[in-house]
Amino acid sequence: MPSPLRALRLGLIILLILIGTALSASWAMQHAKRQAMQADARRASEQLTLYANGLHTLIERYRALPAVLALDPQLIDALRGPVGEPLQRVLNHKLERINGAANSSTLELLDHTGLAVAASNWRLPTTYVGSNYGFRPYFKQTRVKGRGSFYAVGVTSGVPGYFLSSAVTDEQGRFLGAMVVKLEFPELEREWRQGNDDVLLVSDARGITFIANQNGWRYRELLPLSDDDRAELAQTRQYDKQPLIPLQHQLLSRFDERSTLRRVKGPEGSADYLWESLPLTTEGWTLHLLRKPQVSEDARNAALLGAAVWLSLAFAVLFVSQRLRIARLRQRSREELTRLVEARTRELRTAQEGLVQSAKLAALGQMSAALAHEINQPLTTQRMQLETLRLLLDHGRIEQARQALEPLEHMLTRMAALTGHLKTFARNSPGGLRERLDLAGVVDQALELMDTRLRSEQVEVALYLARPAWVRGDAIRLEQVLINLLRNALDAMLDKPYKRLEIRIEAGDGQWRLSVLDSGGGIAQADLAKVFDPFFTTKPVGEGLGLGLAISYGIVHEAGGQLQVDNLPGGARFTLTLPRDLEPAC
Ligand code: ADP
Repeated sequence: MPSPLRALRLGLIILLILIGTALSASWAMQHAKRQAMQADARRASEQLTLYANGLHTLIERYRALPAVLALDPQLIDALRGPVGEPLQRVLNHKLERINGAANSSTLELLDHTGLAVAASNWRLPTTYVGSNYGFRPYFKQTRVKGRGSFYAVGVTSGVPGYFLSSAVTDEQGRFLGAMVVKLEFPELEREWRQGNDDVLLVSDARGITFIANQNGWRYRELLPLSDDDRAELAQTRQYDKQPLIPLQHQLLSRFDERSTLRRVKGPEGSADYLWESLPLTTEGWTLHLLRKPQVSEDARNAALLGAAVWLSLAFAVLFVSQRLRIARLRQRSREELTRLVEARTRELRTAQEGLVQSAKLAALGQMSAALAHEINQPLTTQRMQLETLRLLLDHGRIEQARQALEPLEHMLTRMAALTGHLKTFARNSPGGLRERLDLAGVVDQALELMDTRLRSEQVEVALYLARPAWVRGDAIRLEQVLINLLRNALDAMLDKPYKRLEIRIEAGDGQWRLSVLDSGGGIAQADLAKVFDPFFTTKPVGEGLGLGLAISYGIVHEAGGQLQVDNLPGGARFTLTLPRDLEPAC
């Protein structure tokens, strides 16, 4: 693959791993967060129930108070007619005392028009006494149903509170007025605020918060108000001059009907909250608990775990695919290598065949040249001599003619020797005889054949022959080798005054060693390596063909042996080694 492509691939893989890591980490984190939030939501919901019970108990404690006071004969009597100042003072004192004992916020007595004829807060400049509350819903409820309740900001005092009222009636059940107790919740809000980061809210049926344990959350619209709602609020003056501000919130996730995750634009800015709601059925209110979700250690650990799982998976996949790729590459390169080797072998074989062919041609050329030279010269001489012979016979000079025949005969003998060599060469085909023979016997035979020449040239022959020396081979051909060696030795010693030939047969390591040593002065160092080459000769033209040693070398090798040459002081030594054969069992 070209390297830009590979780089691109690598880049893509890394990108994929990174994206995968981010995705799996965030998925694991979200999952863990949601789990944690759900658990949190359950806890919050339980706490909310406790808060609701507390609020309920508080209200219930005071709900009976106006009902009991409405039975007070003094109060009933007072409402039967107009209340004069002395009576009003009596009533004010009475309500003040009861209010102190009951620990409520305010007690007031309204006549049948809703006019406050007496109140526990008569001493304050913001006292209710003298104000008419006929427009307040709780008064209307009381007149109709006998009792009423209403949360409102005090029109006179400006202090918000929960008004609980009971009808005051005469013996005939006629409506005379209403006994009202007002509860204020700063105490409760303070209590809810303590050691608590949660936001606790109470909203009315319209979704307007009126109790809050933290600043800035009171008088907020949780739901959009209709025009009717607004008109009614204006009429009842429920929240009087308090401005109502919408609280913006957006649903992010819902765990169940009353449990959600919301993004809320609170007084301190936007934040996510777990939002639990619980309806307070008796009052028609709803209690809310808002809690900031904690990014727990667990979520972080889950993200890490998610990333780790993804990374291990990704690396496992990469590892396996890499292994497969390497295996594929190996297989491919093995095949490539095999193909290359085969191709190279074929090329080599062709080249070798070509070389062999040209070597053969070269040898043929050399041999033809040598043969032509060897044969042409004697032929020319012979023709001339035949001419001479004819002339001599024409003149009847028989005796001279006979003498002239001699060189002719000599030349023919030489040519016969030449063809003899060639015949040997032709016979040098692989697979000679492999008979058991005694090397010493071969030496005897060769010496016998060379006897005439040895005598005429007065050569001293020294023999050290171990016998029998059993080897395997072709006796005739080995004899030829030996004759060759002897002839070369005699040729080398031809012009030497002292001629000595030494032939040895010695036992070697599992072989027989036959050496022929002469006193012919040895072979020039530069020629030592060439003497076995075909057509190498130092003899004058017409005397040597340079084939003797080449043929001998071939014969010895064929018999499984070796032919070597070295120089000793005084002459050359040819050594022939052949594997030792077993003694014949006679
Ligand atoms: P040829 O005898 O026709 O030259 P050979 O192959 O028998 O061919 O010998 C090759 C050459 O090796 C000879 O020409 C000679 O120079 C050298 N040679 C062989 N034997 C001896 C020897 N015993 N002493 C010195 N030179 C030798």
